[in-house]
Amino acid sequence: MTITPPEAAASRPLILLDVDGVLNPWYRPGPEWEVHEAIGHDMTYRVVLNPAHGPMLLELAHDTGSALVWATTWVELANREIGPRIGLPELPVIPVNVGREVPGVGHKTPQVAEYVAGRPFVWFDDDLTRSDTKFLKGHDGVGSFRIIQVGPRQGLNDRHLRQAAAWFASLSENGTPS
Ligand SMILES: [Mg+2]
Repeated sequence: MTITPPEAAASRPLILLDVDGVLNPWYRPGPEWEVHEAIGHDMTYRVVLNPAHGPMLLELAHDTGSALVWATTWVELANREIGPRIGLPELPVIPVNVGREVPGVGHKTPQVAEYVAGRPFVWFDDDLTRSDTKFLKGHDGVGSFRIIQVGPRQGLNDRHLRQAAAWFASLSENGTPS
């Protein structure tokens, strides 16, 4: 077993994961996707999940030296209702449901900006706009990042993961994309 020094863990790049529209698309894209009932904060939801996603994301994290983090309104429930069904271990959670709202900016974005603390990050989401990019770029403590827009009808696929891997590979040692 490899022990990661705390300072190395604290500076690792991050992979931010949305659930709805990314791991749980609007429709069932193919037979390999499984339908589940997932208990949310207020009711039970039908979710469509791909069991291949967990291994794919763990491989991306391993190959890029990054840490997976939930950035979803499911917050802690993602560790109970989503992760285990696609083969993900318990992950840290960005508390996106609390904190300040910024007009014109996605409700998760200010919390993400606070959380990343200078670490480079890729963010898989289906619902971000140029306002979010602008907000992040102008926020102290946000370093290099790449938003990878996922189409909510089909959800996350190989192409998105390749984009993430290519972006991580382009980071120079100081965390700036070359
Ligand atoms: Mg979403």
